[in-house]
Amino acid sequence: MTVWDSLVGQQHVVETLEAAAGGRGMTHAWLITGPPGSGRSNAAVAFAAALQCGATGCGECRACRSTLSGANLDVTVHRPERSQIQVDDARQWVMQAARRPVKEQWQIRIVEDADRLNDSSGNALLKAIEEPGPRTVWILCAPQPEDVLPTIRSRTRHLNLATPSPADVTDFLVRHHDVAPARAAHAARASQGHIGRAKALALDEETRNRRRQLVVLPPRLTSLGSCMTAAANLVDIAEAEAKAQTDQAFATELANLETLYGTDRRSRAVRSARAAEKDLADQQKQRLRRQVLDAVDRSLTELLSVYRDVLVVQTGAGGHLVNEEQRVEVEELARRTTAEQTLRRIDAVGEAREQMLEFNVPPLLAVESLMVALRVD
Ligand SMILES: [Zn+2]
Repeated sequence: MTVWDSLVGQQHVVETLEAAAGGRGMTHAWLITGPPGSGRSNAAVAFAAALQCGATGCGECRACRSTLSGANLDVTVHRPERSQIQVDDARQWVMQAARRPVKEQWQIRIVEDADRLNDSSGNALLKAIEEPGPRTVWILCAPQPEDVLPTIRSRTRHLNLATPSPADVTDFLVRHHDVAPARAAHAARASQGHIGRAKALALDEETRNRRRQLVVLPPRLTSLGSCMTAAANLVDIAEAEAKAQTDQAFATELANLETLYGTDRRSRAVRSARAAEKDLADQQKQRLRRQVLDAVDRSLTELLSVYRDVLVVQTGAGGHLVNEEQRVEVEELARRTTAEQTLRRIDAVGEAREQMLEFNVPPLLAVESLMVALRVD
């Protein structure tokens, strides 16, 4: 096992990062882009591990393992919880990044969602990226290079991850997660190149069930009542899923705090522990909100895959459907509706996502009006 194993179908990027970790073509600021689920932050963390490893990412040594598990003191992942990165946060990161590494070769800062930098937080970061400390490395991640401020983009070395092919994803699931080939192939198709999603679908029955409930919805949206029920169910399930995820992360962080301050009874330490706990609780709320949005957004992507399949049938494009196991229902819906209606429904899904993510419309409201727009007579 090496640190690169979790990167699926990204050979060209792995080669470049591996070479840089070995000292060939190393630079202090990187920009890793790629579609959601292609493994941007995995690539960033793998690269960080390889840099600390000293042997280009063996996956076995202490530096590799602590980096991959998120416990390396000299690797920090900044994951913004808000829709924009605030200038104060960016300034703080810059200050911390200027420190010398505690234990390792490099002081590494990973910024997930660098597309959330605004003009002022971007400028605060720019200076650090232009003149980084001798041992500091910045790794920024974003969906597309155009999403990042041009001034920042031009000062980073850019690498782009591709959407992994279904064959690559299937192979990865079979080889690294012991998934049976048929199930792996289904998960690869249904995930449309999103690795985390593919893993969840292959390994977790509940995730598979949730997806099944979603993809059978489209032909059943025949009355206002069924639309409203479908919307409420979709949001309920997303909320439950998000809560389970954030509760788990919260528990781990509280336990870490306990380890950090637990035995220290000096009053200053107790005060710091309380402040840190409060910070965590605040973060937890923001994180939950974001996870709910993410979960609803994922569900909408699943729905979208059905309408894309319907369109494939209606336009006679041929080939495999994403929801091959639903072919009968998809063909039926393709007969009952027109390609023009399908295109309108696809647009409606896009609009609902935009309303939620860009205009802060509450998820339930956005999904309710979406379901009404998806209704079939
Ligand atoms: Zn190593």
